[in-house]
Amino acid sequence: MVALYNGVGRMGYGACTVRLLVVEDDDDINRQLVSALSQAGYAVDATNRGEEGHFLGDTEPYDAVILDLGLPDLNGISILEQWRRDDRKMPVLILTARDRWSEKVAGMDAGADDYVTKPFHMEEVLARVRALLRRSTGHAKSEIECGVLALDTKLARLTVDGVPIKLTSHEYRLLSYLMHHSGRVVSRTELVEHLYEQDFDRDSNTIEVFVGRLRKKIPAEMIKTVRGLGYCLSPDADEA
Ligand code: CA
Repeated sequence: MVALYNGVGRMGYGACTVRLLVVEDDDDINRQLVSALSQAGYAVDATNRGEEGHFLGDTEPYDAVILDLGLPDLNGISILEQWRRDDRKMPVLILTARDRWSEKVAGMDAGADDYVTKPFHMEEVLARVRALLRRSTGHAKSEIECGVLALDTKLARLTVDGVPIKLTSHEYRLLSYLMHHSGRVVSRTELVEHLYEQDFDRDSNTIEVFVGRLRKKIPAEMIKTVRGLGYCLSPDADEA
């Protein structure tokens, strides 16, 4: 059984949507993961069976997979090994039991990109997924697109509908972050943390100023303000 959860309206975000697969046989944990990840704006497929998980990872273009190692029908390690043998390169975060250190080693050897030990804090899983996505987008290609926007992350250059647009470094970092997370709501706190890693000024009001400036340089409606939550970049200016 594949449950398709979609907190933000997957069709609406088109090619920018980040798709995740959760393979976890514990129904409670499965549900919690799906709920937290969809709330974070990802399009999430979930299964509680290894066979199906393997099939989905083999046939669907996921941006990342969260894979429990202890599955009743098919071992997580062999699923992972099979994917890697078949050249499936999506980042995989494995879930391992607390005191099974050998499991972690085997998982990393099988091609896992990171692991989280059970019981985990949901925030940790979310942070690790974000990091995996960041790394894989960075490595996979230097240009990311969202609607009419194309950002060359190596040259730090933006074009809107093919026309080069000048950005200040803060505008660039803000837009780059929104583009890497397009289709999901990014909170002001998250943006502040990302933009001001080394700076003293961590005033979240300045984010509003930068967003205002960005809206003058790209189609303004692409950056939506989600009241009380933050901002969401979507490829189609006129979609809700
Ligand atoms: Ca399990």
